[in-house]
Amino acid sequence: MNANDMRIGHGFDVHRFSENFNDGRPLILAGVLLPEERSLVAHSDGDVILHAICDAVLGAVGGGDIGQHFPDNDEKYSGIASGVLLKQVLGIIDQKQFWLVNVDITVVAQVPKLTAYRQEMISSLSNLLELPENRVNLKATTTEGLGYIGREEGIACHAVVLLAGNA
Ligand code: MG
Repeated sequence: MNANDMRIGHGFDVHRFSENFNDGRPLILAGVLLPEERSLVAHSDGDVILHAICDAVLGAVGGGDIGQHFPDNDEKYSGIASGVLLKQVLGIIDQKQFWLVNVDITVVAQVPKLTAYRQEMISSLSNLLELPENRVNLKATTTEGLGYIGREEGIACHAVVLLAGNA
């Protein structure tokens, strides 16, 4: 596929951990259900990684942000799997004749330690994004105990995407 247009996009998202660590809600990151006690508070399933990617992809095509497309006061998005939202966002760029080139993600979390889940998350992202795994990079960092991440109040995520297209 020849591209005559390249676009870059950045997305950032934060979700806080629930107060009740035993509320039975799973922690879902990059579409993977993690066996952790803490979940993230959200209108959707709280997948902070997929939300950051959605915003990055929308940003690259001047498509606004995730909140405009999927309002968090709309009942139809209550508890929705964020992979469904991501698929819709990918549909938007497809319509505009853009496709993903690569994705680079930085998760900022003091807890949980993500190393053990990294490969599973990359595989999941590769499937969701329909990209080879060598075009999906997932990094994780802490804030060395500083700030709201360091106090283990939540998880943040940055995503950068490159799109190519024939626009
Ligand atoms: Mg979010």
